[in-house]
Amino acid sequence: MNTIKNRILRNLGISYINRIFKVINGPTFVSIFFTRKCNFDCYYCATSKGQIKSDISVKQWKNIVNHLYNQGCRFITIYGGEPTLRSDLGELLKHCINLNVFTHVVTNGALLNEDLLEEFVSYGYFLLGISIDCFKESNSSPKKYRPELINILQDIKKKNPENIDYSIHIINTKENIKELIPLIRTIKNKLNCRFSIDPVHSSKKPNEQYQYRSFCPELLLKKETISRLRKVIQNLKRQGIQLMSPNSYYYYMDKWYQNKYFWKCDAGDLYYAIDNDGTVMLCEDVKTPIKFNDFIKLSHKTRVKKINKFKFEYCDCFKPCYWNPTNFVKHPLRNYIYKYRFR
Ligand code: SF4
Ligand code: SF4
Repeated sequence: MNTIKNRILRNLGISYINRIFKVINGPTFVSIFFTRKCNFDCYYCATSKGQIKSDISVKQWKNIVNHLYNQGCRFITIYGGEPTLRSDLGELLKHCINLNVFTHVVTNGALLNEDLLEEFVSYGYFLLGISIDCFKESNSSPKKYRPELINILQDIKKKNPENIDYSIHIINTKENIKELIPLIRTIKNKLNCRFSIDPVHSSKKPNEQYQYRSFCPELLLKKETISRLRKVIQNLKRQGIQLMSPNSYYYYMDKWYQNKYFWKCDAGDLYYAIDNDGTVMLCEDVKTPIKFNDFIKLSHKTRVKKINKFKFEYCDCFKPCYWNPTNFVKHPLRNYIYKYRFR
């Protein structure tokens, strides 16, 4: 059946294959900060703190998406801040879907309602990511489980099975790690969804340049907890819980935390981010002053060289959204074999 969803997923697969064989040299995926404003103030998040640059218009965003599309990119994440704070989010989403781009909208869900979701699914297929950290609001995160929202999501999926999928994003901290399994089970019992489980990251020094993370060493998981988390995740997978990342991601994440695995980040090449003012970022964490419209005019080689000058000396991260596409494109065979090894 040639549904919009199948078409979009097929296009995404082709774009990855084209990138593996260097038919294209554009990014495999790009995340965009549609706005940096947020209606929440999570302690571990720096996205909306101290931001003064104003958002570019939806027309400018659509133009950026067209450029990305022409470069072969078929995977765009729209987030913020809180993207639903902008009333023109639907317009951008519709534009991406019309281009058959795999579009992932990530929200804290506070402003989602049936009417808005009905509007979004009327445009075609997209992946909706909802951030939920805990059952009850905690000191570090107001992103709590809301049964009424889960019911709405379930209804929308029932009515439009081909136009929407869900991913639930859980940031694990020392505060909420004990709730992880009950939270996943509770949500899974009600909603057909995938989970993204990601330990909280903290900047290394207070007040440094990271754009996404705050300095919160007291929330970081211990290395032993990360090792246990990997086993927990493997068990969850065996029980049929679907995760956004493969087991190999968690295997390497554990090694990375123990300093036994080094990951060469390909920010600026295989992926980058675009800030709310239309400037290019290496990733969600590292800003540059380069305007996207200037950046896109450069050759691929110059782009990568220029943007990488902005990498911090102490730059580090092990975020799934960077590691997964990098691993897929750079090690396609290993990726395939490891699917079975880490089962
Ligand atoms: S983590 Fe998400 S919901 Fe929380 S402040 Fe940051 S952007 Fe807003
Ligand atoms: S290592 Fe790469 S992806 Fe990670 S924070 Fe630095 S530039 Fe971003």
